[in-house]
Amino acid sequence: MPETVAQQGNNTQQSLVNEVDLTKIDGNGDFPCPKCGVTISPEDETEDVYTIISETVTNDTLEALVIKCNACATQIRLTGFPALDMDAPNQ
Ligand SMILES: [Zn+2]
Repeated sequence: MPETVAQQGNNTQQSLVNEVDLTKIDGNGDFPCPKCGVTISPEDETEDVYTIISETVTNDTLEALVIKCNACATQIRLTGFPALDMDAPNQ
């Protein structure tokens, strides 16, 4: 009978998803993957480096984005997106 592999002892609250606050990143928003260090650019839409898992949009504003690093499969939650000018005169 094979033994069940139980993953215990590493069940802290932040073990599954790394969180990156873009407001704390200087420059153009690139940041290294917390696990493997590959450079991830939120403006890179090719999905060569990462894949978008889900996104949270409130009032047409992107609030959070969950991505997966294609190199190490780590999931990263991005927050702190700059408010974009929607160019919507509303007076
Ligand atoms: Zn990675």
